[in-house]
Amino acid sequence: MTVREQFIVGIDLGGTNIAAGAMPTDGTREIAMRMAPTRADEGATAVVDRIARMVEEVIAQTIVETGAERSDFLGVGIGSPGPLDRVRGVVIVTPNLGWRDFPLRDEVSSRVNLPASLDNDANCATLGEWWCGAAKGGRNVVGLTIGTGIGGGLILDGKLYHGASDAAGEIGHTTIDSTGRRCKCGNYGCLEAYASGPAIAMRAREAMEFDGSSILTELVEGDMSRVTAQTVFEAAKRGDPIALEVVRDTAHFLGVGLSTLINVFNPDTVVVAGGVTQAGDLLFDPLRAEIRRRAFKPAVDACRVVPGALPLSAGVVGAVATFKAQMLGDL
Ligand SMILES: [Zn+2]
Repeated sequence: MTVREQFIVGIDLGGTNIAAGAMPTDGTREIAMRMAPTRADEGATAVVDRIARMVEEVIAQTIVETGAERSDFLGVGIGSPGPLDRVRGVVIVTPNLGWRDFPLRDEVSSRVNLPASLDNDANCATLGEWWCGAAKGGRNVVGLTIGTGIGGGLILDGKLYHGASDAAGEIGHTTIDSTGRRCKCGNYGCLEAYASGPAIAMRAREAMEFDGSSILTELVEGDMSRVTAQTVFEAAKRGDPIALEVVRDTAHFLGVGLSTLINVFNPDTVVVAGGVTQAGDLLFDPLRAEIRRRAFKPAVDACRVVPGALPLSAGVVGAVATFKAQMLGDL
């Protein structure tokens, strides 16, 4: 008798977009992947309706593509910005969505009539890279996702580490300069205040106040407000000295933060995901060098520092993985 293949739907809820897709429980492939705008301004109910609709679309397409039946779908894993309470399935507060104490897990579950799980989006991205991406095969993994902010996740001894109140892994809010730049979290000198996408763009704008000769000026047609981390990386690839300095400084700041984590956790893998992976070796070579200069040698020797391998789907893959880990006990 053949065992029927079973599927899990993954939802990656972000401030701008919702990504969704399905995977079989063995994680071997991504099915019916899609993305839609979150439109958080329409309110929580509208967002939940949209998520439920996407879940139904993913299930319908998966059935068409694989011949599965609805009873072959075990549930829905949801990755959401936090902080959140996994046990109650509640999003405690999300500035980007404007939610407070919102029971996201049960709202989605009751709409689609399937069990659901909830975990932090950055935890999901790290777990996704570990299950199916660049951190595969690792046992102790530090994950960093660099975008509008810097999200983090920790896998220790082969399990996602949540800490005492689901707040572990906030790597973006590691202090790298005690009297440094103000961070959105209220602290001073957080890694996020130096190396997030907007922080990279801001440092480039500051550098150009002293030297306006950068080709960045052309790339944004003289409108400095249009400088983004992406344009900085593009200018750096063309050899622009100011952009190259901004990328090297980014590697320095990330190296300072990651050296601390490497000394504390002795990971076998550090996976850095998000838009910064576009910078490639321009970022990763000086980043590895900075870590080598700072961290304890036996820890550095045991650790590979790699770019994420799932730029579009880590969050969805990780949401599927967290459902599997939470509901079925293991990955
Ligand atoms: Zn902070």
